[in-house]
Amino acid sequence: MENLQGGELATKKQSKCRLLLFPLPLQGHLNPMLQLANILYSKGFSITIIHTLFNSPNSSTYPHFHFHSIPLSLSQSESQSSGVDITAFLNSLNTKCAEPFRQSLAGLLSHFRQTNETVGCLITDAVWYFSQTIADELKINRIILRTSNITCFLAFSYFPLLRKKGYIPQQDPQMDDEVPDLPPLRVKDIPTVKSTDPETLEKLLNNMIDAAKRSSGIIFNSCDLLEQSELIKLRRELNVPIFTIGPFNKLFPAAASSLLVQDRSSISWLDKQEPKSVLYVSFGSLVTLSKTEFVEIATGLANSGKPFLWVVRVGLVRGSGWLEGLPDGFSDEIEGRGYIVKWAPQEEVLGHPAVGGFWTHSGWNSTLESICEGIPMMCFPIAGDQMVNARYVSFVWKIGIQIEEKLDRERVEKGIRRLMIEEKEEMTEKAMDLKRKVDDCLKEDDGSSYRNMKDLFAHILSFY
Ligand code: UDP
Repeated sequence: MENLQGGELATKKQSKCRLLLFPLPLQGHLNPMLQLANILYSKGFSITIIHTLFNSPNSSTYPHFHFHSIPLSLSQSESQSSGVDITAFLNSLNTKCAEPFRQSLAGLLSHFRQTNETVGCLITDAVWYFSQTIADELKINRIILRTSNITCFLAFSYFPLLRKKGYIPQQDPQMDDEVPDLPPLRVKDIPTVKSTDPETLEKLLNNMIDAAKRSSGIIFNSCDLLEQSELIKLRRELNVPIFTIGPFNKLFPAAASSLLVQDRSSISWLDKQEPKSVLYVSFGSLVTLSKTEFVEIATGLANSGKPFLWVVRVGLVRGSGWLEGLPDGFSDEIEGRGYIVKWAPQEEVLGHPAVGGFWTHSGWNSTLESICEGIPMMCFPIAGDQMVNARYVSFVWKIGIQIEEKLDRERVEKGIRRLMIEEKEEMTEKAMDLKRKVDDCLKEDDGSSYRNMKDLFAHILSFY
């Protein structure tokens, strides 16, 4: 954190500049936007967060920011967000927020004009595609924060081409073929999402890419070295400035924006475990599992014989409250060796000396948090960018393995054995090596993320 505070990066001009940030109200999007807000604040910018009342961030954790809410009425099923048709949900958010956002932004801009405060730009989540037109109308530059990896965004921009070439919709027998335009992704790694209406997905992605091309720039929570050639391709494809200034969690932890209470008993439980012995298991904030998958995971964990800390979110198992679907005798079998919580302080868990491996759904935040601690992963991606992240973890960076076939207890047990015993040393070494390289990106002066951050600030200051 010291690397980036004050010093050369905090200029007088920045301290007179206010930035308006508009996060998407989902955990994996809220965390990086608020981390970015903290980074920008630490460099002298003033921050206003425009947010929906649904999943609103806890303003008392950020007394240094101004918060401005916009109304959003969601149906009962939408407001549960986990388990909903995510494409329909994101489209609905874009439609429902447009007018309230327009009014809020117009009001805020007029207020800051009256108080003679300079507004540098608007920074919104990439998914808020509707906001580009509003930013154009109100004559404010819009920068995008893309909260996932670069290759996934590149793949989204190639969707029309992939459809033309017959890779979408994905189908047998070509699932294992490499996509020539996007190596090393295979057809099955293309970041699609199961939707009741596949056309709506492509419309959503096209809108997002189109708005990105019209934006004043894109920020990625990533660093240059992770996806170098894809970054070059994306720059060519979108033709807007791109700033890779992450990983944010090395600068500010995500915990402050957690929407759920993080159970700290997981840390006291880890304190009693042997170094590098525990498998941490979590599938993020949105993924849901069938009752059968839940039983297979539980049985595989029990049969592996390894200690584990498992996050079972309320709502993780479809049609079930919390733990009632666990197999008979499970608690006795894992006595003293397994611990289950509803939500954990994940970054702290991953940084705990007792943790040796992470079984993850491969969300981008989780992947980055694991990379930053040098923890190898067992990837179980379900959809979207998770497919891409898992491919990079297992095939490109070689810091983990991927469960590719249908989930069953034998595959779980075998995967855990590979991660925590057979290939542990080799993968941990590679993960630690990548961690060190990523750390270097944030080093003052010669770190690429540090340099890119300077460029980003100069870019923002050039708007007025
Ligand atoms: N997280 C957490 N506690 C948990 C599980 C996850 O605080 O028990 C946080 C995690 O640190 C990460 C975010 O939730 O910052 C999940 O984001 P990710 O992109 O990995 O997945 P998503 O939830 O968007 O699918």
